[in-house]
Amino acid sequence: MAFNPINWLLGLFSLDIGIDLGTANTLVNVRGKGIVINEPSWVTIDKRSRHPLAIGMAAKEMVGRTPGNVVVVRPLRDGVISEFDVTQIMLEYFIGRVHEQSVVPLPKPRVVIGIPAGVTEVEKRAVYDAAMAAGARQAFLIEEPIAAALGAGLPIGETRGSMVVDIGGGTTEVAVMSMSGVVASRSLRVAGDEMDQDIIQYLRNKYNLLIGQGVAEQIKITIGSAFPLPTEKTVEVRGRNLVTGLPETVEVSSVEIRDALAASVQVIVDTVRDALDEIPPEIVSDLMDIGICMAGGGALLLGLDKRLADDLNLRVWIAEDPLTCVARGAGMIYEDFENLARYLVGLERGSTRHRA
Ligand code: ADP
Ligand code: MG
Repeated sequence: MAFNPINWLLGLFSLDIGIDLGTANTLVNVRGKGIVINEPSWVTIDKRSRHPLAIGMAAKEMVGRTPGNVVVVRPLRDGVISEFDVTQIMLEYFIGRVHEQSVVPLPKPRVVIGIPAGVTEVEKRAVYDAAMAAGARQAFLIEEPIAAALGAGLPIGETRGSMVVDIGGGTTEVAVMSMSGVVASRSLRVAGDEMDQDIIQYLRNKYNLLIGQGVAEQIKITIGSAFPLPTEKTVEVRGRNLVTGLPETVEVSSVEIRDALAASVQVIVDTVRDALDEIPPEIVSDLMDIGICMAGGGALLLGLDKRLADDLNLRVWIAEDPLTCVARGAGMIYEDFENLARYLVGLERGSTRHRA
């Protein structure tokens, strides 16, 4: 994007932010500054008073360690808001922190916030309301695949097709885009969280070993894969033996974990294939040039790009910094609002306010 001095000056006196409200992570991208907040979408709450005790990273660290009167909540499920009040508290906290970071007092921010493609009017309204309630002066919504594509630098405004596979915590979103719009899309509730569960199940069945979600996620990130590795690896896993009840350490290999993840990986591959089946041959031919772009944290699963490329006979590439694509794409809107506002989605008039 060309440097625009007027935008730069305006940026000094207003706060324009792009937000990726993900099931796993929330990112806040401030115009002129970049990504200033990147934290897990988790909140710990005192059950009795309903007061939040910790938000973001601090809350995620408490998972599995909380006393009885404290719950750790992930307010977004399957890509959409499931706990409205908690989402609002979380957004308010993150937006508030951005405000605190500015040297001069600024007016309330303008916000562009990502929503999964194909969500209902009520779900859109919930995200909009949460952003406004959290202190935005103005809020716009953008479909996440569009934001991811913008962030990844795909030519979605052109008469050429492109495809994004965004694998997050709760959902995998597949979208084919052309001429600034979504041509075909699929949303699947199999993504990073499900893979963590796969690993928990596998170790329980094979070794009678009980581990928590955090450990499972670490195993997935260090040795999880979707395609044979040049050199297979092993890790030591600590857990509790379900038969003896005692702590135990087991050595687990990347071959075993690939086996554990196989079913989820297959579902993701099948869903991408399904979306490909639906698109016109012209766009298939475009995709043969440009390839399939992967975004989201799940794109980093070792060998998943190779696996997709192998099965689908297309080139597959991982976007630069796949975890921040949506936030960067949402933040880009304000850099050239006149041209890029066409990517925003409207709300139907008169739809009622969502209540949690
Ligand atoms: P969301 O958009 O739902 O917030 P993200 O795009 O932030 O999700 O991705 C989070 C998911 O990506 C989590 O399930 C996390 O475990 C997974 N993830 C992050 N890094 C890796 C990695 N290197 N390998 C495999 N999965 C990863
Ligand atoms: Mg996401």
